[in-house]
Formats: sequence, structure tokens, C-alpha cells
Amino acid sequence: MIDCAEKPPIIDGMKQTIFQAREIFDNIWQIEEYGVFCYLVAGSERALLIDTGTGFGDLAEFAAALTPLPVTAAATHAHPDHIGGRGAFKTLCLPQEEFGLARFYGSLFMRRMMFSKAAQKTYRTKRSAIRKGKYRTKYLPLKEERFDLGGRTVECIRVPGHTKGGMMFLCRAEKLLFTGDDLCRALWLFLPGALSVSEWAENAERIRPFLSEYTLYSAHDREPQDPALMKKLIETAHRLVREQKNTLLPRVRVYPKEYTDHGILYRTDRVRKKRD
Ligand SMILES: [Zn+2]
Repeated sequence: MIDCAEKPPIIDGMKQTIFQAREIFDNIWQIEEYGVFCYLVAGSERALLIDTGTGFGDLAEFAAALTPLPVTAAATHAHPDHIGGRGAFKTLCLPQEEFGLARFYGSLFMRRMMFSKAAQKTYRTKRSAIRKGKYRTKYLPLKEERFDLGGRTVECIRVPGHTKGGMMFLCRAEKLLFTGDDLCRALWLFLPGALSVSEWAENAERIRPFLSEYTLYSAHDREPQDPALMKKLIETAHRLVREQKNTLLPRVRVYPKEYTDHGILYRTDRVRKKRD
């Protein structure tokens, strides 16, 4: 860990540092905010922040301690632990399909809900300490585009499933892939707004070519994902689609049942896309 906490950004009343950062590549940092991981990628002219956390602290202020460059904030999807910190930024680049979710999940109410009893104990403060951000952030539609940061580029690649606009971020030269929540050991496809298992499996094929050669960072694991395990996850999704049909009534299940090293949490009525 690089200690970036000489002047730790803190929420009013909080005695503890909110963020920690470690440099995972030259001028690329993983920033942790209470078990959620954001990534700051700096070039020679500007920096790109991938996800903004839940917004317990001021991430713009923290990023400024890591790099003096102007920071563009972007998000993989609109869940509260990814866009909750947007209020520290004037704009947030977000896939357009996520705008609807953002209105619901980005609210102060949802962010306070995310501040669990355990978090309140850790930070010795109450939910009410979570405030609105500095800015009324404007969402800018994020497409499959390239960010030129000066001597370093980041490409966006759509892999929806966990949500319908899910975006991943690819640094080709550095062979890094930031996967958000759309590629991780416990893949959540059961929340409102998620796609069917078959759609995720189809979309995940787009990143299969990168899995062996790239280092894969998700939003909920400090260490990179095991590429072999992530290939297995895609196979598991295809197997689930082959084995099961949609039920009429929704139930949330885990597949495989004997969850060991990976699994998919899905809705039994959303295994296959309706027209499949
Ligand atoms: Zn999510």
C-alpha cells in the first residue's frame, strides 16, 4: 500500500481514513473505499477515474493527492457503490442505458443504506454523516470510446449482464482490464435491471480473448481475478443456459448449487432471454 493518507479526506465527524490507494502499475492506482475498489489511470495530460465508490468521502480530493492532472470520472455501471461518489465531480461518464438506474441508485437514501451497521461501527459515525456531494453531477453518455490520456489510452468495451449498460475498461498497452461487477467470482445477475444469464454469457465472449493475457481487476476484489476461473465462469453460464429453462415465477438461485470457487446468482425466470 502506498500511504496517501497524510491528509486523509474524512467525512465530518469521522476519525478514520476513508480511502486507501496502492499503485498497481506505473501511474495506475487501485483506490479502496470500504471494500469497494475504484481505479485511477493517469497519462501525461489527464487521468481517468473508473468508478467513484459509494461516496463516503471526497474522492476528487483524494485523487488530487495522487495526481495533479485533471481527472475525468467514468463508471462501469450505476449501482450505488460505483456512482455514489459522483457528487465530488461536475460530470460523470456513464453508459446511457444506466441513466434510469442512476436516478434510483445514486440517491442519498441509497448511499446511506449502503453505509451498513458494520461500516458505521468502523467509522464511528452514523448514516446521517453521508451528505450530498459538492456538485449536482451531470451524466455524460459513455459509449464504446477511447480516452486518450497522453501517452496512454483506455478503451471502453460493453459487457452488459449485471446491469444492462455494463462497461469494462481496457488498457491494451499495459494489458489491464477493469471489469466492474460483470466478471467476478460471485456474479450477481439477480438484481432489478440485470440481463438474463444467456445474454451475459453471450456478451462475456467479447472479453474471452483478453482473459489469459490480461490482468483482471474487479470492483470487489483487491487482488486480480484468476483468468482460468473467469473462463470457467463463462463456461458455467453457458452450461446453466443449456440445462435450465425459464420458470414462470422468479426465484433467486445460485449455480452451481455446490458453490465452491465461483458461481452465478440468477433469477430462475431470467436464465434465457425471452425470445430464446
Ligand atoms: Zn453492481
